[in-house]
Order: sequence, then C-alpha cells, then structure tokens
Amino acid sequence: MKNKVRVFWFRRDMRLEDNVGLYHALSGDFPVVPLFIFDKHILNELPEDDARISFIFEQLQKMRSHLQDHYESSIATYYSTPEEAFHELLKEFEVEAVYTNRDYEPYAHQRDAKISALLAKQGIEFHDFKDQVIFEKTEVEKNDGGMYLVFTPYMKQWKKEFENIDLKPFPSEDLLGNTYKNSRLPNVSLSDMGFVKSSIQVPDYTITKDLLEHYESTRNIPSIEGTSRLSPYLRFGMIGYRKLVQKALSVKNETFLNELIWREFYKAILYHHPETQNRAFKPKYDRIEWRNDENEFEKWKKGKTGYPIVDAGMRQLNETGWMHNRLRMVVGSFLCKHLLIDWRWGEAYFAEKLLDYEMSSNVGGWQWVAGSGVDAAPYFRIFNPYSQTDRFDKDKKYIMKWIPELNTDRYPKPMVEHKMARERCLETYKEAVKS
Ligand code: FAD
Repeated sequence: MKNKVRVFWFRRDMRLEDNVGLYHALSGDFPVVPLFIFDKHILNELPEDDARISFIFEQLQKMRSHLQDHYESSIATYYSTPEEAFHELLKEFEVEAVYTNRDYEPYAHQRDAKISALLAKQGIEFHDFKDQVIFEKTEVEKNDGGMYLVFTPYMKQWKKEFENIDLKPFPSEDLLGNTYKNSRLPNVSLSDMGFVKSSIQVPDYTITKDLLEHYESTRNIPSIEGTSRLSPYLRFGMIGYRKLVQKALSVKNETFLNELIWREFYKAILYHHPETQNRAFKPKYDRIEWRNDENEFEKWKKGKTGYPIVDAGMRQLNETGWMHNRLRMVVGSFLCKHLLIDWRWGEAYFAEKLLDYEMSSNVGGWQWVAGSGVDAAPYFRIFNPYSQTDRFDKDKKYIMKWIPELNTDRYPKPMVEHKMARERCLETYKEAVKS
C-alpha cells in the first residue's frame, strides 16, 4: 500500500525557512515529501560547467543534509522532465496535494499549467502561493485598472499598497518535523546529469545597515563593493524576500528598496507582456536595421573592443558570472548603439553567462539600453564610454583590475570610432522610429 503524502515542489525558492508554500504544505495532516527537479528542458541547453547548476546543486545538498541530520527526511531529487518526475512520484506515493510557490516566467507558466492539469486528472490538487515578490500580477495597478508602464508612479503606488498589508512571516522552519521520514529518497549527482563542478564560486552577499545606508553613493562605483551582490541568491530564492524588504525599509534612504521595486516592476511587465521576451515593447523599434556583424559581436563578448570600460565589464562577466549594474548599462549601450547589434543577441549572451539571470530583469534591462522598452532612456541618449569612465572609474581602478595589459601594445585600438558610431546610430534609429 502506498503512503499518503503531500508534495512540496521547490523551484526558485530554495530555502527551508520563511517559505510560504512550504509552510502551507507542512501545516496539514499528511507528511510532506519535498521535491526538486533538475528540468531536462532547461539543463539540455546549458554547458557542462554551468555555474548556476553547481550553485543550485550545492544549496540542495545543504538543504538535504539539514533535513537528514535533524529530521531523518530528505528531498526527492530527479533529473528528468517535470512530467516524468511526477509520474515517478505518483508510482511511489498516494499524493493528497502538491504545493509550490508561483513562478512568473513564460516557460514556468506553461509548465505549471501542464502539471496542474496532469494532477487534476488524478484528483490531486495543485496549490501555488506568492513568495518571491510582495506584489504580483495585477496587485499594483492604476486607478483605472491598467498597468503602470512607467516606473516612478508604479513605485509610488507600490509603497502606498505596502502600507495596507500585514507582512506576516511564514515560519516553515518550525514545521520541518512534518517532512516525510525517509532519508533515502531518490537523488542525483552532478555527473549523473552530465555536469561538472564550476570553477566559479558565488561570492557572499552583504546587506549590512552600513551598506544600505550608503548605497546611494556607493552603488555606481564598480571598483568597490558598494552593492549587495544579492542577485544570484534572490534569483534562486535562497534568501527570504519579505525579510529583505523589511530590512530595506529599516534604513532611511530608500534607494535600495527602489531597486527591489524595479525587480518587481519588470516581473509585472513580463507577466503581462510575455511577448516582450523577444519583441520590442515599443513595436517601432523592431524596425531598426541592425548591422549584426558576427566578428564585432565576438570582440564584444571577449572584451576586446578597445574601449577599456566595456572590455573590463565583459571580462568581469566572463570570469565571475556577475557584472556591476553600471557596466551592464555601458556594455549594453555599446552593443546596441555603437555596434548596432540587436539587443536580443546581448540578452542571450547575458542569459548564458549571468549567475543571476532573470528573464524579466534581463529583458527589461536590455530593452532599456536599446531604448525599446517601458520607461527606457530616449534613443538619442547614447552612453559615451569615455565620460562614463570619468564619472564612475576616474582612477581606472576597476579597469586595471580586469585589463592588466591596458597600457601595453597587447591591448587593441578602439574597434569603432566613437563619434562616427554615435552618428550612425542616431541615423539608423531615426529612420526606424519615424512614423
Ligand atoms: P544591488 O544594487 O545590491 O540591488 C539589490 C537587488 O535589487 C538586486 O539583487 C536585484 O534583485 C534588484 N535590482 C537592482 N537593480 C535592478 C534593476 N536595474 N532591475 C531589476 N532589478 C534590480 N538583474 C538580475 O537580477 N538579473 C538579470 O538577468 C539582470 N540583467 C540585466 C541586464 C541589463 C542590460 C541591465 C542594465 C541590468 C540587469 N539586471 C539584472 C539588473 C541589475 O544590474 C542587477 O540586478 C544588479 O547588478 C545585481 O547586483 P546586486 O545584487 O549587487 O544589486
């Protein structure tokens, strides 16, 4: 006879504490089988040393060990498609219901619809919860019901709505004794999945009061650790979001909180406009005649454009899987505007490399630099790499860190002349957007 259980499915909420869906799953009468699926649909696209897979794998091992050591339980882990994983689980257990936290990306949306339909056929309920944002879907809307397409009024409304909610904790960590007692649930190793441990180590994050209080003045200087480096942890839900927001609110300066609100803004945009993952939000911008020169794209990717600030950013990305926000804007603008290479090419390269790759923020960021997105800088505002250097890396500390050969003949000459590139961009954009 099969044991009757509930299932909690971890996706991008990889923590045992203050986890909304896990809390609800553990609050019932049946033991809970925690589940994680390394989804073949996603993994098949990745290189064998993908740093995100190592990062997730390590966190999963930590969570499994904690459950094994303290509760004689574990996390059933599969390397398969979600459909196959549920098929296996249902052979093993009588499942009362499946619990999970909502994921808003277009693929996740389709996946969850498919799984909940598959479960429904067997009379199994699928319960999903809000965990990775404060406000989701249509919770921050204009008075007339439309969604905000400009950040500042969205942010103001977000703060207004926030005053009306009670940010309760969901202490799932206190209920872990209700996990299903079997420390030998299915498991997979990195090599079972054809992966090896990445050489990239994800640095710890910092959210000290000091950092948050000085964030406004430190966040644009790439040579110092003036930002939190939370992004990979937020991406995979390794840190509880509600506590983070409370911490951001506990300091007087709201700049850091506003960045978290940008994250939610972009999520809402992608949720309502999933087509913008590969189409310009402002359709006119899909008329731009990109040059899309593959050799030039290679130079940009390798950090060999001859523009030190651009090359330093690209090398930081290639070597560490992270790039400072100021540099993301500079390298993005250079690709789209100086080289006239389609923002989708840059978006795809970032998706391959970024530890914190998040479709909503990445698409939002790229459409912002290309000028085609919601609330983007007007197209005629073109970042000048030299003045960006003067403003944000005057003593070249950051540049020298990533380009030690800068002052030698091994460093290339600029691949394109700034003034010419600027004018070429203006003409091309003007042609595309004229109505
Ligand atoms: P902090 O400055 O400490 O900010 C704290 C958190 O706020 C971040 O972790 C992030 O979750 C959020 N945040 C900060 N700035 C932004 C922003 N502009 N938009 C949305 N959220 C923000 N961020 C990603 O998380 N994933 C991406 O794939 C991504 N791609 C980007 C692509 C481009 C072209 C640009 C211009 C920006 C992109 N960003 C992306 C936003 C931003 O660069 C990173 O969130 C930030 O650099 C992460 O470092 P941090 O955690 O130290 O940030």
